[in-house]
Amino acid sequence: MEKICVAVRVRPPICHENSSSTFWRVDDNQISLHKLHGSPISCVSYAFDHVFDENCSNSDIYELLTKDIIHAAVDGFNGTSFAYGQTSSGKTFTMNGSSNDPGIIHRAVNDIFQKINIISDREFLIRVSYMEIYNEEINDLFAVENQKLQIHENLERGIFVAGLREEIVNNAEQVMKLLESGEVNRHFGETNMNARSSRSHTIFRVVIESKGKDTGSFGDYSSSDAIRVSVLNLVDLAGSERIAKTGTGGVRLKEGKYINKSLMVLGNVINKLSDSAKQRAHIPYRDSKLTRILQPALGGNAKTSIICTVAPEEIHIEETKGTLLFASRAKRVTNCAQVNEVLTDAALLKRQKLEIEELRRKLQGSHAEVLEQEILKLRNDMLKYELEREKLEMELEKERRSHKERDRYIRDQLMMIENLSSLVSDGDGSSSQGSMKERPIEECNNRGDGFKTPCFRAAPKAFVAKRSNYSQLPDLSPLPDSFSDVADEDTWFKINKGYIADLDSLQTTPARKVQSFPPEDVTPNYLNKKYKTELQNLKRRLELVTEEKNELQRKLAEDIEVKDRLKGDISKLKQEALLAREMPQRLCDSVTSFKDTYEEVLSKMQRYTFDGKSSTAKLLRCICEIGSILFSTMETSISNTTDRHKLSSGNDSLIQEYNKMLSEKLKSTITSLILSETASSEDKQTKTPCSCNFEVAAWSRYHVSILVLFFVMILGYFVSFFRTLIF
Ligand code: ADP
Ligand code: MG
Repeated sequence: MEKICVAVRVRPPICHENSSSTFWRVDDNQISLHKLHGSPISCVSYAFDHVFDENCSNSDIYELLTKDIIHAAVDGFNGTSFAYGQTSSGKTFTMNGSSNDPGIIHRAVNDIFQKINIISDREFLIRVSYMEIYNEEINDLFAVENQKLQIHENLERGIFVAGLREEIVNNAEQVMKLLESGEVNRHFGETNMNARSSRSHTIFRVVIESKGKDTGSFGDYSSSDAIRVSVLNLVDLAGSERIAKTGTGGVRLKEGKYINKSLMVLGNVINKLSDSAKQRAHIPYRDSKLTRILQPALGGNAKTSIICTVAPEEIHIEETKGTLLFASRAKRVTNCAQVNEVLTDAALLKRQKLEIEELRRKLQGSHAEVLEQEILKLRNDMLKYELEREKLEMELEKERRSHKERDRYIRDQLMMIENLSSLVSDGDGSSSQGSMKERPIEECNNRGDGFKTPCFRAAPKAFVAKRSNYSQLPDLSPLPDSFSDVADEDTWFKINKGYIADLDSLQTTPARKVQSFPPEDVTPNYLNKKYKTELQNLKRRLELVTEEKNELQRKLAEDIEVKDRLKGDISKLKQEALLAREMPQRLCDSVTSFKDTYEEVLSKMQRYTFDGKSSTAKLLRCICEIGSILFSTMETSISNTTDRHKLSSGNDSLIQEYNKMLSEKLKSTITSLILSETASSEDKQTKTPCSCNFEVAAWSRYHVSILVLFFVMILGYFVSFFRTLIF
């Protein structure tokens, strides 16, 4: 168990205020606030592992604070070093430095390669990555196209950023070039306090894998075949903001909110970690991406140092006090760092053929350099393909999710059409409803089968060290969706709220012991032959990986094709739904025009009824009555349908009953009228035969037949309306 190493650095004053009444004084490892003429202000004095005054250089800081962590990382311990402090207090200056005084990152990279060159009994594989957290989104600084990356966690890799580009490197110059290219992609912005203010947190990550040169031999892996894997994080945080001072608005204000919020979460995590183990409940690592990524470095398996930078000016006194309180809390956090060793082939070093590494050590003569270059290239290619495969797998996963989403959407659409159809078909028997209801469900099921995305193959053994228990502990804090409602000044004050608590230890898994292979004697000829075979093997593997990648690409193309087909289906369904929605209105229009025709015909017929008492007049009145009932029933039904969901199966039977009743009524009226008409005409014929009366009777019969035909037409039309709706 060891405490986090905490130091404070006071940057040189930018402007010398004449009016200041206080100043910060540095004595050895203490910093205190003094009145202008000497006397210290009580309660404003702090002690840390180191306090660096304005005259110190980045070199001093590296030597005293960071060097040990870097060396430990080469030896297999996880390490983290980060700079914390207000905007323009010198964080970026400390981490990146200047051309005269290189910063911690530059020095650490040089130191790593110097150290591994000295260690003759181990072989190393170094890879680097560079990311930034900007507005709570993780972006890859080595590959601009890799934006909004996600944090994942699994047993083999622990917490990792999926799809982040890693580059295998074998000298410091290579790393410097990569860093330069990454720096270009970083988010900077101008504020009142810093013309080039870092608007994001950046994490430069070095993964160091190593194995003893005397362990293992070709094709002979035993349980003692251990590889050390350590992760080194060098973090430059964005500065805590006080909006009133930085004078930011718009985009800068939004950035400031995210920065403050994530720094507040960092403060909360440090607070919780500085509680005693008994008091410490849930640690909110998941509340921000920064703390989630740094989880192993904060209260876990890592050696950690924090450099808290402060501005000496009196106007920044509140911010400086806040930073010093944060530093005091951090000083109470303990970690339990251990050498990470893996025996499985989870380490990249092993995945990329352990024996090739073995061979590299033994390679001598003129070919060695060329061959080494080739090996490095092949390795980088393999790593790139692995990352591409990882990305493709993620894309496929995303596609699969969106398919599900679309499937659900189609189901909803079909349900809606089904509902509409059942509503309008209420006017016609229930048998047709049944057939309509079954069809979409069948279709859905068929579609569901047809759109299944291909299964993924399980990811091959991933890399990075075996994890300690801490990373597997359930962590229940939800990841916040958005920080947009954060009040900045409130957040800033919370960040700067003092907190001191008792310290207790943390539990982590014990380290594994390294076991070595017995050394093996190998002749140079044998080695050369072996090397060529291995090189061929490596190439074959590369081909395999490429094939796998192509296969994934093919699957992705298939998925996209299915997606396009789905889109077509959806638009067709939408059109159908639109048609179904328009149907009641069209029906309504047809009924209205039909009613007009009906009334016109009726009024014309009424002209033939000479007096209101004739049988034809009676028949017409009866028809009028029936007609108006029919039309009002039809209109009510249609308006109910238009009002949606009001027409029930009960109403449907009502319409049918009406239909039946009216037909019967009409039939009986017509029959009785025909009978009475025939009887009276026969009677009149026998009593006073007159050609005029015969004509009237003929007229009546003629009217009756026309009316019967007319009503048959109405009823037919009525039924056909509802049939139209159904189909
Ligand atoms: P931060 O990253 O904390 O916002 P910077 O590192 O960008 O602040 O520093 C702001 C300015 O102050 C820069 O111009 C930087 O060169 C200067 N500066 C910071 N610390 C020092 C220092 N120790 N010595 C000289 N100049 C410094
Ligand atoms: Mg900065």
